[in-house]
Amino acid sequence: MRLSQNFLANKSVSRLIAEIIPLKGTRVLEMGAGRGELTVELAKRAKSVRAIEIDEKLFPSLLSAVKEFNNVECVRADARYSSFNGFDAVFGNLPYHLSSELLFKLLESEFNQAVFLLQKEFVERLVAVPGSSNWSRLSVMTQARASAEIVGFVPRTCFKPVPRVDSAIVLLKARKKQLALNPKLVQLLFQHKNQSVKNALIHSHGALGLAKDEARALAEKLPLVGRRVRTLSLEEIVLLSTSLNPLLRR
Ligand code: SAM
Repeated sequence: MRLSQNFLANKSVSRLIAEIIPLKGTRVLEMGAGRGELTVELAKRAKSVRAIEIDEKLFPSLLSAVKEFNNVECVRADARYSSFNGFDAVFGNLPYHLSSELLFKLLESEFNQAVFLLQKEFVERLVAVPGSSNWSRLSVMTQARASAEIVGFVPRTCFKPVPRVDSAIVLLKARKKQLALNPKLVQLLFQHKNQSVKNALIHSHGALGLAKDEARALAEKLPLVGRRVRTLSLEEIVLLSTSLNPLLRR
């Protein structure tokens, strides 16, 4: 089993992460607590911390790190199958091989704020702007649900063992009102991100459950179909989603 165990070896980075948002009175969830490197800093500031860690070999060190605190609950569990609901903030120096999976699970949860330490290139995709090479399905799905801001970069030398990549800290703040996106449309469009919307839809006819001619006819009823997918703004993708949904239901 892969576990992505690169531990924070620099206390000032753990402190910096724990201080990004005010934690007084908050209930915090931490994913991938490891040996408690970040957990301790969260415990000093939050009302309560639930620290999830999958590896039982790390558990004695985690329990020992937080033994002075009575506001920490250490749970041996797989974060992929744990609930993210019911917390004011979610934190994690995430296992990088699970970054997408845990992020998408967060986006489907009732979350307010999240602070994650992730591979730098992954974070750059979360905060990307339309038209840039990093503008992707990940950027669109994330920004439809939350604002995403890079808070800082963490060089690989701050971890032990030293990983092959640098990291960045991202702050996600849930939007008050979610944007009405069709996730399947976003996926299909960004599989052809350098093509026009029209061609992307025609190429996706099978996935849309349509014959090629039907997909062409459908594309002609939609706005923005002459535009390259990679140039579409979030608002334009929402417009396409809301225009497409009633046509697909027929
Ligand atoms: N929080 C510590 C730190 O900041 O140094 C450890 C971070 S390390 C990058 C990722 C941690 O996630 C490891 O302790 C690993 O065992 C744990 N982990 C990996 N897969 C997990 C999963 N599916 N559920 C929960 N924890 C997991």
